[in-house]
Amino acid sequence: MMMLTKKMIEIRSLLQTVGQSDTLTLPSIVVIGSQSSGKSSVLEAIVGHEFLPKGSNMVTRRPIELTLVNTPNAHAEYGEFPALGLGKITDFSQIQRTLTDLNLAVPAKDCVSDDPIQLRIHSPNVPDLSLIDLPGYIQVTGRDQPMELKEKITELCEKYIQPPNVILAISAADVDLANSTALRASRKVDPRGERTIGVITKMDLVDPERGASLLSDKKYALRLGYVGVVCRVPPTVGTSKLFNRGNGNISNAIAKNENAYFSAHPVEFGPESHVDVGTKNLRKKLMYVLEQTMAASLKTTSEAISRELSETTYEFKVKYNDRPLSAESYLAESLDSFKHSFKGFTEHFGRAEVRELLKHELDQQVLNLLAQRYWNRPFEDLSQSLPETDPLSELPKANMENPIWQIKLDSSQASLTKLGVGRLATSVVASALQAHVDHLTSNSRFAAHPFARKAITEASTTILRDLSYDISDELEICIKPYKYRIELEDNEWAKGRENVTNVLKDELRVCEAAAKNLETQIGGRKKLRDVMGFIDRVRSGKVVLEGDGVGGAGGFSSALLRKGREAVFLRDRVDVLKMRLLAVKSKQCANKQNKYYCPEVFLDAVADKLTTTADLFLEAELLSKFYYAFPRELDSRLGRSLSQTDVERFAREDPKIRRHLDVVRRKELLEHVLKEMEALRQLEAREKRYTSRS
Ligand code: GDP
Repeated sequence: MMMLTKKMIEIRSLLQTVGQSDTLTLPSIVVIGSQSSGKSSVLEAIVGHEFLPKGSNMVTRRPIELTLVNTPNAHAEYGEFPALGLGKITDFSQIQRTLTDLNLAVPAKDCVSDDPIQLRIHSPNVPDLSLIDLPGYIQVTGRDQPMELKEKITELCEKYIQPPNVILAISAADVDLANSTALRASRKVDPRGERTIGVITKMDLVDPERGASLLSDKKYALRLGYVGVVCRVPPTVGTSKLFNRGNGNISNAIAKNENAYFSAHPVEFGPESHVDVGTKNLRKKLMYVLEQTMAASLKTTSEAISRELSETTYEFKVKYNDRPLSAESYLAESLDSFKHSFKGFTEHFGRAEVRELLKHELDQQVLNLLAQRYWNRPFEDLSQSLPETDPLSELPKANMENPIWQIKLDSSQASLTKLGVGRLATSVVASALQAHVDHLTSNSRFAAHPFARKAITEASTTILRDLSYDISDELEICIKPYKYRIELEDNEWAKGRENVTNVLKDELRVCEAAAKNLETQIGGRKKLRDVMGFIDRVRSGKVVLEGDGVGGAGGFSSALLRKGREAVFLRDRVDVLKMRLLAVKSKQCANKQNKYYCPEVFLDAVADKLTTTADLFLEAELLSKFYYAFPRELDSRLGRSLSQTDVERFAREDPKIRRHLDVVRRKELLEHVLKEMEALRQLEAREKRYTSRS
């Protein structure tokens, strides 16, 4: 049979991946022995390589959980430290160095650590075994070793030699068995000697007769018996280059040396002698005993796994409502729902919305132009040549005879149409799209996933950037006709008049609110009026400022003066806006012939024409292309191109999802393991029936 151990070892490594709990440990062979008993030599003979830390002062400070995996069809022999992720190590001296480093990493004051080092060795030359190498018992504490070291090692060993583990007690032939620390320790936990295998090393150091008598010891009788070995690598081999590299297999050399010794003494060790000798036999015995122990623990292990499974199933039900989840499905669902919300957005963000955005932007540009070219002080010229009869006698009336008005309006139009509407409009819409995408992301499942957020932002910025480049140039060409003389229809004029009225009203509200805000900041109307009065007096030349006024003036601090200047600006702006509102509403501005009186209406109508061209163009070139490309770009960035590990890492970024995934995974794994265990138990039962019948 000899496959139970292999299966069980596989099962154990599976269980380890889900953070196996203590209840699920499977039996191992625990190797104990005092220092220099030859413990390392035995383990190395089994593995066929020197790989354990050496050195007179070198104490194994951490347990080594050594898993041997027989790979019958492979040539390569390699080790791996699953917890370290160093990959496959084919050079055994490298393994030795790593183990040394790991041991030395335990601070000297802690002496030993019970945190095991996991080491897996794959080779066609090793049996399937699970061994645990423990720090060697020390007889006398050295000068530089703390007193409690001895105790700590004993404690650590005691923890590991509990059932169902098998104990491999190593004693040297040249030391009286009564003094064997290993046997004494085993006796404590296994008084009837039922799960201890005795190994007597250095058989070559005592005379054969005495050696043979050790192996049939009655005083420390062990049900699993003793095996005598000679594990020293013969010097001729040990020093030869081939084997020094740490890459040649030393099993054969040891076996040859050992055979030579035992067959030289056929009476003591021959077939008739009924004693068990040789590393080869030891291996066989270990495999057999472990297999038996595994078989015996099948039931309890199955039960433990079954309990673990029902706990996990319960957790899955109660916490997660039995909702299945995988990293892939989580990503796919998240992506779908994000694309769905994006689709929803595209249905509500079309030409009308683009138009509103652009018009608002151009309104601001128009306001700036007006402020620069018409509303600046002194604006006496705006109220030049007022007709005496006009009831709104305060209002401006440009003198048509004076070419200045024509030039002013033409240049304002030119400024508006030449300010780079193509680029401005494209970037306004592109930024709005980006902002919406960001908003959608923040409200999606991706909000908790930095990796995905970044991918989404990159997807949209890349597309928008690529599209914008050409679009702004093309749009600029589209609006070219408006850079020349523009003829307006009556209805366009009327619309402009209506719209600009609203723009001015809005601006008026903004200014009034800002003025109010300043008043509160300054601390009351009176104080504000005082400082504004002072600034007005300075401006009209009634008061002369001393110096530059930086440190304050007229009893006002410089901060206050700054606020006062702002307030004066706002007051003037409010005055102008009120006046211009009246102008726009006046009868003169109802007629497009009077466009020189009414630059506000004219420029608004021009802005409206620009907007109409731009929104049509941007809808076709930017929106629809972006709406088409973005979901596809998402698919490629968050779908196909991701590896299994990426998807897994993505899903695990969200702690809630990570816990959910862990439970699902644990449950699946335990179910799988339990099924395997059941199959093994059936196989085992069949085998038993078969052997009992024959
Ligand atoms: P550990 O401290 O228990 O791991 O013991 P080692 O395996 O390092 O062995 C201690 C010393 O005993 C080393 O010098 C080995 O070469 C030597 N040794 C180990 N096994 C044998 C053996 O079977 N025969 C002889 N003659 N020497 C051995």
